Amino acid sequence: MARIFVIDDNPLNLRLLSLMLQKEGHEIEQAEDAEKALRLLERSVPELFLIDIALPGMDGLSLLRLLKADPRFKSVPMVVLTAFAMKGDEEKAFAAGCDDYVTKPIDTRALPKQIAGWLSKAGQAGGDGQ
Ligand SMILES: [Mg+2]
Repeated sequence: MARIFVIDDNPLNLRLLSLMLQKEGHEIEQAEDAEKALRLLERSVPELFLIDIALPGMDGLSLLRLLKADPRFKSVPMVVLTAFAMKGDEEKAFAAGCDDYVTKPIDTRALPKQIAGWLSKAGQAGGDGQ
């Protein structure tokens, strides 16, 4: 069970992800854009981020870079979600500092296992952010 922060401007995706993750016992915080996410993050640090690339206003990769540059969040695993499986997107996402990359539509059967993997990898990395 972990605190997971989901940023996605598609309400159906947000709802689907939240329901699934809650069913797995996770605690979900969500935002439909980067600005709202940053406001909510002033008072909480999640254990995993799921970030959609295409967002209105600040895009997901810019948000990711901002979060990775912040000592409070830089050791939190960040997974990018994207509907645009365009060549080069994956490289851009990893260059921005993401820990993993998932193409939408999300495979709801594979997701719980993936989440566990991301969380355990973060646990092994230790808390020093290195
Ligand atoms: Mg989007």
